[in-house]
Amino acid sequence: MNEYQGIILKKISYKESSEIIYLYTDQGLISVLVHGSRKMKSPFLNLTKILNQVKLIVSGKNLQTLRDGEVIGNYSSIHESLEKYTYCLFLSEMLYYFSTHEHDHEKLYNFLLKILPLIKEESNYIPYINMFELKLLYLLGVNPNLNSCIVCEEKDELTFSIKDGGVFCKTHQKENSYNNQTVQAIRKLYYHDLNKTKEIDIDLSLYKDIRNLIDEYYEYHLNYFSKTRKMLKGLIGY
Ligand SMILES: [Zn+2]
Repeated sequence: MNEYQGIILKKISYKESSEIIYLYTDQGLISVLVHGSRKMKSPFLNLTKILNQVKLIVSGKNLQTLRDGEVIGNYSSIHESLEKYTYCLFLSEMLYYFSTHEHDHEKLYNFLLKILPLIKEESNYIPYINMFELKLLYLLGVNPNLNSCIVCEEKDELTFSIKDGGVFCKTHQKENSYNNQTVQAIRKLYYHDLNKTKEIDIDLSLYKDIRNLIDEYYEYHLNYFSKTRKMLKGLIGY
């Protein structure tokens, strides 16, 4: 028998009434077979709900099978808001995709445990999604340079170039850069300290540019294209 704690990222149907769930833990991704979980009367219904934090007792060698478990963090209320839930699916897809990359899973998992309750409770939750994406860039070793011009180290009036992965001053500015307001917002998100209960003050008008910048960055530097992104676009309009 083994015991795991983690967040359920996704699940797939298996045979007639069973499922395989994918759990993100502090050691990375683990898959577990849950017998009969698609039956109405399954005692495991909440243990297979996406985003829930669960503790599972499993056995078996190749495909580990669920024996028992409990929900530690219930995030099923996120499912009630279609937009919030889609953002979380977007995040789960990303976590799942990069779970096979070498990085510090313990750090990322603990970060996830910090932001999920905030996403669940806050109506202004999108900045937390962005923080997570920026944190992952850092852990993957491709974090953007946000502090000073790549050429001359000037710190004012910076604009962001996706290709160069960093900021430039007015003199060395590149074409098709993101403006200084967006750079400042990204910096706020990147350096935000979750342990201090500080309001995140980011202008709503910048959300679209922040979204686009992070998307482009993931595409260009990690060749990552999200499938859920289209669904999200249908909901938020960009
Ligand atoms: Zn410069």
